[in-house]
Amino acid sequence: MTTGTTSLDGAVVEFTHARSSVIRVENLQHSYDGRAALKGVSFGVYPAEIFGLLGPNGSGKTTMFRILSTLMLPMGGRAVINGCDAASNPAGLRKQIGVVFQAPSIDVKLSARENLRHVGHLYGMSGSALDKRVDEMLYRVALFDRANDRAETFSGGMQRRLELAKGLLHHPSVLLLDEPTTGLDPGARRDLWQYLAILRDEERVTVIVTTHLMEEAERCDRLAILSEGQLVALGTPTELKNEIGGDVLLLEARKNPEELAVRISQRYGVEATVLDDGKVRLERDQGHRFVTDVVEAFPGEIQSVSVSKPTLEDVFINRTGHRFWTEEQKGAEEKVSGKKKSKKH
Ligand code: ADP
Repeated sequence: MTTGTTSLDGAVVEFTHARSSVIRVENLQHSYDGRAALKGVSFGVYPAEIFGLLGPNGSGKTTMFRILSTLMLPMGGRAVINGCDAASNPAGLRKQIGVVFQAPSIDVKLSARENLRHVGHLYGMSGSALDKRVDEMLYRVALFDRANDRAETFSGGMQRRLELAKGLLHHPSVLLLDEPTTGLDPGARRDLWQYLAILRDEERVTVIVTTHLMEEAERCDRLAILSEGQLVALGTPTELKNEIGGDVLLLEARKNPEELAVRISQRYGVEATVLDDGKVRLERDQGHRFVTDVVEAFPGEIQSVSVSKPTLEDVFINRTGHRFWTEEQKGAEEKVSGKKKSKKH
């Protein structure tokens, strides 16, 4: 965005050149049985960018996805895609979007081509225009050589790519994906993200994708980070990480982490917080130099220290004061990806 002032006949006029948004979400609210799931979220998504909705379980990603894909009406605020309001013009909005749900929607008994032709018919496409578009999409997602094979013979990654082609067949300018890499091994995950980038660059599609995975969020052009139904950060991954000054230090106290955090805060004038796992966390320029200083200042009180560059999880902690994952959730996620890795080898 460019902002500034200019003079017209002596009058100073403020101007703002905002990049026009394809998707506008304004003060969006939703509750289930009186419990708020979205508490007034606002953001805009620019044309041909990959925009991520990152948040831990329960943060409101699926609720946002359901509203944007017109499966559910918002209880307050607005969601607008290409000028079509989700509440007052859901049919118009649906024409603007392709949707890839978490649950598979292809018919595995049909070939890739048959799946796409079937979807094309549902959209009222036919004849050579449909044939051309089917070929185009098969080519885009690198399934052209397997066009006549049944989808049940495809790997998980190939099936997901067919879902992408299906979502884009009717030329929507926006593609919505809900946790699209669920169930894929790490290689297929990376692959899918490469295809999303190709679709953005070559089809000029605006992609909005929900994820709870940091490494996927890193691949987005911009991110909205949600926590407990609220927007806690918005920007490019680099911008967000750069907002954290210097390094992140995690200290393990020998005895009382709360007391150590207070004393460090007082001594150095920094914010030191105790995380859910009992570690004392602080942000500091030139973290390595600070380590010697703090260990000497509190002799015998610090069991271990780690220094690292800020990650997106640090952005989340910085904005919310708590970790992205509870230890329990982290264990469950590691178990799942561990299982997938061992299955592959
Ligand atoms: P996420 O996709 O980030 O996990 P959700 O949008 O699914 O988040 O959930 C946000 C909150 O709304 C959570 O507290 C969740 O328990 C609640 N919630 C989601 N769907 C329903 C539902 N159908 N009925 C009641 N509560 C729900």
